[in-house]
Amino acid sequence: MRAGFPDFRLGNVLATSFTGTLSERHGNAVERIPVPHRLVDWLTVNGLAVDSCTPAQLDLARELRESIHAAATAAALQATLPVPAVQVINDRSTQGRAAAILTPEGKRQWRLSSASCVEDALSVIAADAISIIAGERDGRLALCASPTCQAAFFDTSQSRTRKWCDMNTCGNRQKKARFNANQRATLRSAKP
Ligand SMILES: [Zn+2]
Repeated sequence: MRAGFPDFRLGNVLATSFTGTLSERHGNAVERIPVPHRLVDWLTVNGLAVDSCTPAQLDLARELRESIHAAATAAALQATLPVPAVQVINDRSTQGRAAAILTPEGKRQWRLSSASCVEDALSVIAADAISIIAGERDGRLALCASPTCQAAFFDTSQSRTRKWCDMNTCGNRQKKARFNANQRATLRSAKP
């Protein structure tokens, strides 16, 4: 991908991959779509290719992202859904036009109403968020156990005991932190 920008974290759930474009919300936050063309890149990678994106459309996308994050976090905690967040998700869902297309290979693709319509792509993401928050899909919304992350993620593991939003980043970091803490403890107890 393009140099000079943070990599994307790609998961298999569209809505939470999207909320993952801002990571470490409770630490040193990393913005992975800092400029409009990075949103274009992200949408392309996720099967929602658009030709262009304006700064205003990027603002809409980020507003949707934070609304999904807020609503998914509330859902994971079994708390009341925040009304403004629900409003934004519903506005984005209804204000886009995208159609599901079946490919000859039997795969589902999205067809947007026009190549420049970021709003159409956002409506697909909003609808995906609605389906997981509404509990329609097989899985469980949970919050990442990393204190600096706490991202909402969708656990589709058989046991529903996944602890981290992403095994390669948060999971590894926690493991390393635990390993270092153990090492220190061992060193301390080894001293005479
Ligand atoms: Zn995490």
